[in-house]
Amino acid sequence: MKSFDKAREKLLESITTVGLETIDLALAHNRVLAQDFLAPIAFPLFATSSMDGFALLSADIENASEANPTELKIVGDIPAGTFTDQKVNSGSAMRIMTGAPLPAGADTVLPVELTDIHERGPDFPLPSKIRAMRSLKPGKHVRPVGQDFQIGDRLLKKGSYLRAQEIALLAMNGVEEVSVYKQVRIAMFSSGDELQLPGDELGQGQIYESNSYSISALAKNLGAEIIQLPIAPDSLEAIISILDDAVHENPNMIISSAGVSVGSHDYVRDAIESNGSLDLWRVNMRPGKPFAFGHYQGIPLLALPGNPVSSFVSFNVFANPAIQHMSGRTEISRLKIWGILSEDVKQNDRESFLRAIYYRKGDQLYVRLTGHQGSGNLFSLVQANCLVRIPAGKEAHKAGTKIEIWPF
Ligand code: AMP
Ligand code: MG
Repeated sequence: MKSFDKAREKLLESITTVGLETIDLALAHNRVLAQDFLAPIAFPLFATSSMDGFALLSADIENASEANPTELKIVGDIPAGTFTDQKVNSGSAMRIMTGAPLPAGADTVLPVELTDIHERGPDFPLPSKIRAMRSLKPGKHVRPVGQDFQIGDRLLKKGSYLRAQEIALLAMNGVEEVSVYKQVRIAMFSSGDELQLPGDELGQGQIYESNSYSISALAKNLGAEIIQLPIAPDSLEAIISILDDAVHENPNMIISSAGVSVGSHDYVRDAIESNGSLDLWRVNMRPGKPFAFGHYQGIPLLALPGNPVSSFVSFNVFANPAIQHMSGRTEISRLKIWGILSEDVKQNDRESFLRAIYYRKGDQLYVRLTGHQGSGNLFSLVQANCLVRIPAGKEAHKAGTKIEIWPF
């Protein structure tokens, strides 16, 4: 039996990344960038007004106040999306909108609220003069060229996960197509004679199949594509046959659920070895001990235990980093925070991932368990907002101990 850390290490060592493709930026959400991205333009591209107001020379309004306003002549109008080569000279100003380029000569934008102009909104005619009620420092309400980034800045590294903000940043740079890692393709099946699909009638001793639902949802959250195969009965031939079907789908990874323990009807390990290798079986952890990893016809195969919480936890601790790694991500992301145990937690020598609720009291973060930790009790997982990781090899953790929390 492997320790949790050793098992994870061994698994990740043998995972290679998928190939590359070029796709429309609009389809690149949740993909991983295949090369560094250097800014082809600066942003802002031109000195830009950040307010609706008047572009002027700050020196002209040095002494302006509500009691003693400064009068300026309005010599032009600059809506966003337009440009003027007219210059602003001392004693004059131009009306300017947010996002419009600052005209030559001006160094500051005086917001309309700081003038005597109260009528605003669409189609309000250009005033011939304004009274400035406030002084402003040079550069106020102006975004200078390159304030956010300069040409050639490395904005994204190869291996970056493309979230909403990365996609928007690429769009901001005029990128239309992007080179990314292919979507990780996962063929998934559940096994077990007792399983029925929701919608079908339950016979004596049968239960509804739920693991494929959690696994599919978790995999999609990571940007992977799931090919769902039918439920396999508990026989060696059936498992081998569904593994062969899985291989025909050309997946980058196979995930199976159940049948990997020591029961007399657990055939998944034998099925893997019939045409592949079992590289790892049983991890010193709870839940999720029967987890197995191997290759079937050369394809990485993660065999998750059948209990609903075990399969959820082993997906999170093993499949999640493996998929991230496979999808090209250079940094495997996992949100971890620390909090204080609010109750004693018993522990044997197994690494434990317990369902828990973290909460704030005063300025401290605390965490308490969600009742019975049986690995079939899915409801207690729904009540939880995190897993807490209790390292192996301790007798007990007393209330007050600082503990690692993995928020959902
Ligand atoms: P096994 O890993 O085959 O020994 O299954 C362990 C437990 O998980 C048993 O109680 C099974 O009925 C249950 N189980 C197995 N597969 C699923 C599934 N896909 N959905 C829900 N429960 C399952
Ligand atoms: Mg079974």
